[in-house]
Amino acid sequence: MMDLAARLASIKEKITNAEKMAGRRAGGVRLVAVSKFHPVEAVRDVLTSGHRLFGENRVQEAKGKFVTLRQEFPDLELHLIGPLQTNKADEAVRLFDVIETLDRPALAKALAKAMAKTGRKIPCYIEVNIGREEQKAGVAPEDLAAFLGECRATHGLTVTGLMCIPTQGADPRPFFARMRELAKQHALPNLSMGMSGDFEQAIAEGATEIRVGTAIFGERVPSP
Ligand SMILES: *Cc1c(COP(=O)(O)O)cnc(C)c1O
Repeated sequence: MMDLAARLASIKEKITNAEKMAGRRAGGVRLVAVSKFHPVEAVRDVLTSGHRLFGENRVQEAKGKFVTLRQEFPDLELHLIGPLQTNKADEAVRLFDVIETLDRPALAKALAKAMAKTGRKIPCYIEVNIGREEQKAGVAPEDLAAFLGECRATHGLTVTGLMCIPTQGADPRPFFARMRELAKQHALPNLSMGMSGDFEQAIAEGATEIRVGTAIFGERVPSP
């Protein structure tokens, strides 16, 4: 517990320093604590130390942890940061406060339907495949404008941001810089980028939200 609280405090200090270095307003970057693969007790410790914003990448796993936690901490905020299957859209809309991984027309349609059905309208970010990796989710940068238009006009979704996972092993700075341009071009206020290994660079390039797991919770034990 002490350990988690100390690590969390240290990350928050690094965020403050990175904001300062970049000449940005203090408190302009939100920390999404990524709790995937970590037990509910670890998440509760982080909540107890005062943090409220979390990210999970699987609907089922998030449901198992956060339905209970929400009753204890009604003001917690939960973002979906992993791929979403259309048949889980209803569950996702009920459980999460932001869907960060809107990446294809079929999902836009399913989310719109789920929001109508559940009566819960939540904001979405579009995931951009900024490194143009074949195996990776996200829309290609050149398709963003058309997809954003479709999400809004055809499906009535509230899109408020962009999200990306840059190519592993490459210098993330140019990817982050390109994401900042895209967000600016489309007047999207939220930019979710940067993880344990590169969040300071992401902040330098304009991230408004960083997603940090390992640096808070420690190594993940992969699920079977
Ligand atoms: C797991 C995950 C993270 C956190 O990664 P760390 O390197 O542990 O900080 C961030 N974003 C996404 C989309 C993830 O799946």
